[in-house]
Amino acid sequence: MTQQRFWSPQIRQLSAYTPGEQPQQDDWIKLNTNESPYPPSALALQRMAEQCDARLRLYPDPRSTTLRDAIAAQFALQPQQVFVGNGSDEVLAIAFMALLRHGQPVLVPDVSYSFYPVYCALYGIECQAVPLDGDLHVQVTDYAQPNGGIVLPNPNAPTGLALPLSEVRQLLAGNPDSVVLLDEAYVDFGAESAASLVNEFPQLLVVQTLSKSRALAGLRVGFALGHPDLIEALNTVKDSFNSYPLDRVAQAGAQAALEDRAHFDAITQRIVASRAWLAAELQALGFSGPVSSSNFLFVTHPRRDAAQLQQALRERKILVRHFKQARIANYLRITVGSQPECEALVRALQDILGQPGQSPSHSSTP
Ligand SMILES: *Cc1c(COP(=O)(O)O)cnc(C)c1O
Repeated sequence: MTQQRFWSPQIRQLSAYTPGEQPQQDDWIKLNTNESPYPPSALALQRMAEQCDARLRLYPDPRSTTLRDAIAAQFALQPQQVFVGNGSDEVLAIAFMALLRHGQPVLVPDVSYSFYPVYCALYGIECQAVPLDGDLHVQVTDYAQPNGGIVLPNPNAPTGLALPLSEVRQLLAGNPDSVVLLDEAYVDFGAESAASLVNEFPQLLVVQTLSKSRALAGLRVGFALGHPDLIEALNTVKDSFNSYPLDRVAQAGAQAALEDRAHFDAITQRIVASRAWLAAELQALGFSGPVSSSNFLFVTHPRRDAAQLQQALRERKILVRHFKQARIANYLRITVGSQPECEALVRALQDILGQPGQSPSHSSTP
């Protein structure tokens, strides 16, 4: 007998976000969740190890003061303009509740991070999809309509396309009376951050994460930058929910990762170089897609079904992401891995597509 009678009524209506697959064995080439193929900063690993002692009996600093000071310094802001959370997904969840519930629809691109409609449903916010143009670009003029807030990833996910700062500025200037949340999860791979606009636009909230460009998806640290009054609202929700979202290991590791500029520069440059190589190879195989400013490529093939390609790669122990949403159902989102991983992907695709490769074991051309 089902015990769903114990569920709070709202739970029946929710359809939750589906995270990308995390296989339990490590013989997979994982190009499906936009993690870094490189290890985190050695300094961060060392500082985290140093935290693992008897002090773990104590609660961590509930406000993550030294980490927030370090983030503020990095962006030339004040600590009261910085909020930190357990991954940027948590920061986003808190921001939707704290700043985006005004009885008017929140505007999001129709092709975007699929967690946004999930937060809207959780909080009873109407989510209005604003279509990308025919080339999958965000047109900021399309957002000039009544709204309870605007949420945009920049670069957008899963397209990888970035909005230049001039267009972000135009969007903010035209929308002074509701919050504009820019999710900059991938900004370090080639886009311009709007962090420099925080002092100019009180309605702007910039959200970033250490999961992608800092190679710390497993640590769960994200942050928001904005006017102190926006940050205060986030803190009020946080302290109504969980006072200690970041443990002391995470606070120390995140701070060290931000300090270790050399490691950050080295790994982002390697990913950007592999992205250029992989984009050219995929193009040679017949794929096309938008120009990526992120650590993934969003590609489609004129003669091949994306879901079948994903399955054929899976049989070769390579994971990539496919979304069923109609408009993008024939695209694959492929994380830029290490150079050897990118090369293994290209060899697998040559094999699957039946084009001359290193040593195709069979041809699957129809
Ligand atoms: C990966 C991702 C996040 C979540 O990052 P975490 O900090 O790991 O929670 C948020 N937004 C977008 C667009 C992402 O792709």
